[in-house]
Amino acid sequence: MTSNNYYEILGVPKGATKEEIKKAYRKLAHKHHPDKNGGTDDKFKEISEAYSVLSDEKKRAEYDTYGRVFSGGQGPSGQGGSAPGWDFGGFGGASNFDLNDIFETFFGGGAAQGRAKRGRDISIDLEISFEEAVFGVERSVLISKIAVCDKCGGNGAEPGTDTKKCSYCQGKGKVHETRKSFFGSFTSLRECDKCGGKGNIPSKKCSACRGNGVMPKREEIKITVPSGIEDGEMIKLAGAGEAAANGIPGDLYVKIHVLPHPVFRRSGRDIVMDLDVKISDALLGAEKEIKIFDKSIKLKIPAGIDSGEVLRAKGLGMPQPSGTRGDLLIKIMVRTPKKISRKAKKLIEELKEEGL
Ligand SMILES: [Zn+2]
Ligand SMILES: [Zn+2]
Repeated sequence: MTSNNYYEILGVPKGATKEEIKKAYRKLAHKHHPDKNGGTDDKFKEISEAYSVLSDEKKRAEYDTYGRVFSGGQGPSGQGGSAPGWDFGGFGGASNFDLNDIFETFFGGGAAQGRAKRGRDISIDLEISFEEAVFGVERSVLISKIAVCDKCGGNGAEPGTDTKKCSYCQGKGKVHETRKSFFGSFTSLRECDKCGGKGNIPSKKCSACRGNGVMPKREEIKITVPSGIEDGEMIKLAGAGEAAANGIPGDLYVKIHVLPHPVFRRSGRDIVMDLDVKISDALLGAEKEIKIFDKSIKLKIPAGIDSGEVLRAKGLGMPQPSGTRGDLLIKIMVRTPKKISRKAKKLIEELKEEGL
């Protein structure tokens, strides 16, 4: 059975340094490369996925907080600045954060005012059935949040009226601020108070959002849950969080709760079930039909099977990112009847004489 824990996959402790992670990855990648003798594609993909997350400071922090994070679904439309559904890349709004992070570190936080405003992240919980976890599912959820105003499209002006350039910042939306310190004077950019960073001032404020450009709204959001997701895992919809006036929207995190199934349970990449078997079937062998969601199979129970023995049906388990599926493990439970007829008792006594 394989693990979904990135640290375990690379064989490093949770507090491992960047160097240790790199070293572990190099060694494993070398060993399991599919072009090599004994290398496997599955294992190599697993190692690469773990490394791509743990080698990136931001993704690693996210993983430490939320566990495995999937990107999925379609965010709401009309929220400029960031591309919903994109994740793990330097696209859209995401690259701005990184630049600002560097900027902030460099100036010791003093330049934070120059940072683009960002809407709040939202996290929600989503319950899905065991079957939906196996095959994936699309869900729509209604979310109450601060969103871009439909009426003015976020610019805060009543439609049909004009806006004029902000005279305070000359339409730039930002003003320079010079501060003196021991090391000399620093100039930083600060959002213009007069226009709220927009660079222009509406002659008539939007009546729906009172000129804010954003307002509370209920929004339907589509979430694509990938097949094979585990209980407690997280899906991230970049840009589907709350909107910020003249800023970039936050992200939406969806925590998945997989409801228990009466027959099946999960064990890593495999699905496990118990199967009750009569004593006579255990002794003589039998054929049973097993239904698992999309498929049914004829299971051959060999004669003389013991209670607790496990039969394996290949390829009926959890789908893997590599496209393969784990197995279905069928645990045999030989059931002893609690009441037997007089005739049965007589026959069993004969069996006993036979030495059984
Ligand atoms: Zn508006
Ligand atoms: Zn201004």
